[in-house]
Amino acid sequence: MDVTHILDGLNERQRQAVTAPRGNLLVVAGAGSGKTRVLVHRIAWLVEVEHAPPSSVLAVTFTNKAAGEMRARAKVLLGGSAPGMWVGTFHGIAHRLLRMHWDEADLPRNFQILDADDQLRRVKRVLRERQLDERKWPPRQAVWQINQWKEKGQRARDVKPRADDFLLVTHAAVYAHYEAACRREGLVDFAELLLRSHELWQEQPDLLAHYQRRFRNLLVDEFQDTNRVQYQWLRALAGNAGADAAAVWAVGDDDQAIYGWRGATVANIRRFQEDFQDVGVVRLERNYRSTGMILRAANALITRNTERLGKNLWTTAGDGSPIRLYAGCNEGEEARFIAARVFAWIVTGDARTDMAEFYRVNAHSRKFTKEQLRRASQVAVFYRVNAQSRAIEQAFLSNKIPNTKTPMPIPYRIYGGLRFYDRAEVKNALAYMRLVATRHADIAFERVVNTPPRGIGAKTVEVIRATARERGVSMWQACKENLAEGVFKGGAVKTVGAFLRLVDDIAAATVDLGLDELAAHCVDASGLRALHASEGGERGLDKEANLDELINSCAEFGRQIVVAENTGEDAGPATELEEFLGHAALEGGEHQSAGPAVQMMTLHSAKGLEFPLVFIAGMEDGLFPGRHADDPGKLEEERRLAYVGLTRAMRELYLTYAEARRLYGYGDSTGTWPSRFLNELPVECMEEVRLGGSLTRPMAARRANGDRAAAGNEGSGLRVGQRVAHPYFGEGVILQADGAGERTRVNVRFERAGSKWLMLTLANLMPLD
Ligand code: ATP
Ligand code: MG
Repeated sequence: MDVTHILDGLNERQRQAVTAPRGNLLVVAGAGSGKTRVLVHRIAWLVEVEHAPPSSVLAVTFTNKAAGEMRARAKVLLGGSAPGMWVGTFHGIAHRLLRMHWDEADLPRNFQILDADDQLRRVKRVLRERQLDERKWPPRQAVWQINQWKEKGQRARDVKPRADDFLLVTHAAVYAHYEAACRREGLVDFAELLLRSHELWQEQPDLLAHYQRRFRNLLVDEFQDTNRVQYQWLRALAGNAGADAAAVWAVGDDDQAIYGWRGATVANIRRFQEDFQDVGVVRLERNYRSTGMILRAANALITRNTERLGKNLWTTAGDGSPIRLYAGCNEGEEARFIAARVFAWIVTGDARTDMAEFYRVNAHSRKFTKEQLRRASQVAVFYRVNAQSRAIEQAFLSNKIPNTKTPMPIPYRIYGGLRFYDRAEVKNALAYMRLVATRHADIAFERVVNTPPRGIGAKTVEVIRATARERGVSMWQACKENLAEGVFKGGAVKTVGAFLRLVDDIAAATVDLGLDELAAHCVDASGLRALHASEGGERGLDKEANLDELINSCAEFGRQIVVAENTGEDAGPATELEEFLGHAALEGGEHQSAGPAVQMMTLHSAKGLEFPLVFIAGMEDGLFPGRHADDPGKLEEERRLAYVGLTRAMRELYLTYAEARRLYGYGDSTGTWPSRFLNELPVECMEEVRLGGSLTRPMAARRANGDRAAAGNEGSGLRVGQRVAHPYFGEGVILQADGAGERTRVNVRFERAGSKWLMLTLANLMPLD
């Protein structure tokens, strides 16, 4: 049999992993070493050489984008079709299982998925119902705690806080209340998807046995970030030891574990070797992605971490150009610098081109050519927090040809920011679709009962809510009962009645229609389109375009379903509409539509991706690493995130920071210090960019480093009684010190922030006198 198409383009170690005999295998390897590639080739190997049926393959990865690419690449290798193969994210696969086995999972047939925003709203309602003041009991904190418990596999009844821990006792009560509400209303949040499908295995041994027989080949990408419930789910599915067990094939990189705060742990990698039998281990150390400079810098950075399995990547690629470092005097200047370099790359293929000079000798064109647009999609801009994107977007939108008034906006797409399906107008349309599917969907009901405005006031809604609460029925049902009993006064009788009729009419008119026609009908009949049309201007147009895009995505989704059926895929019992609504809640972050564009995203969403030209903005202490970096564990996690960022770059990498920044759009801008990570990169890999006449301080990063290094040593110049400054806590006085060398801790009384113990080597203290 000819296996060259599977093995060509793989090195010796990679082949070893791809062709390993059936059994458990762990590939631990650094960034860009071909883990994902090897995993896809392994699927092809299993199917073509080992004759495993595609339906025996279940492959999980971390993002929908990665899952989509994996599916596509596997299909190409397999010559076009792979019926019955499951490739998805943990959440996506859990969702699919629950849709198929809603009954066994003790869920209503048409259960709804709560996205993060819906979950927050529902928890807020619980707080209101328990008369807990939101100012004292921040809803986000409660949501975080609930998800934390769920990710550990704990139900409300399993949570046993100490009686004197008032915070946990209250959160546990909120959890119990929320859990009951979700059960009653058929709501499933993201963490619940995983927990519920894990419980499905425990409570339905026959079902588990069925899937154990089916999925003989389990493959996991980004294994380092699986959380506890995911791990247990996988372990149950793999089955017990012996010849019966499925083969688990996992790839991961401990240096890229960036979801510690979600309950994932590096320890997973170690546990895998203990929990599964005879785990073979393959290490890949050759990097195929980045230039020598980029790789050296990334290696140097990550060796600072102590919690590592330890490895070093090498490449035969040339050194390439140094990493460029730029300091803007504020976030606006930083953003304009990025825009200018991106513009140069798009137009000329070289980010360093002086564009003023370029246009002096070349003709102006107002439009990008196809070739230029293609180059736009080779660029990525990463940042630590979403709020940073605004300044950069602004610079992209207002980009002009230098020394002219000719606008040349740079096309960009924000990836994972405000998700398409999260936009208000889209959520409104989805809420009508949801009500068509289930009238008892309270969250959808609340959302659109008066959108577009139809004169149903807050008081009326409160009456409806109260009835629903008292009688334990849905708001829809409450309306009907209130109407029948003549509870509503004056105009409300008419307006509420009209709303109920509107939804019923839409439902009746669309029974036999396709999903996209149904969506179109919802958009029009609800008055949402008219609402945004009357808004006028760019904003209104934009919103209408989004509504059209929603209709498109319904058409798209309908086609996918048909394809799945044709390939003999198990079709769940849910309706297409319900499937779609689940998809919108779950996969909303990665809706792609427009043409080629620069990709903007947080460092967390950058995992697994690669781009020829990468910018990382906001390399400042307090932002990246974040302000909790005085905790060594957190600092190491931030450093892994930096490692992920650096290793996305194939050819060119720019690191930028602002010397003063105003974030989140409020307050004055505050002076910043360059990220300590900059100081951890080898000097010979770096080059500072200075623009003629700009205010850039000479190598500010190095200077701060010098100061800090001195502070860590004996003759640090720091002593008790010394006045110091800290990037976040501001100015203060050292009161006490203990420990020695690396372990020296100091107690500083800050004028604003009170007194704190800090690790001297990490605290980035600047002596003031
Ligand atoms: P990450 O840890 O960032 O997820 P990875 O280990 O999954 O990285 P891949 O994305 O699979 O790495 O591969 C990185 C790049 O190197 C890809 O462009 C891939 O096509 C290429 N590559 C991998 N192996 C080889 C090889 N043997 N020959 C040529 N190119 C390769
Ligand atoms: Mg990968």
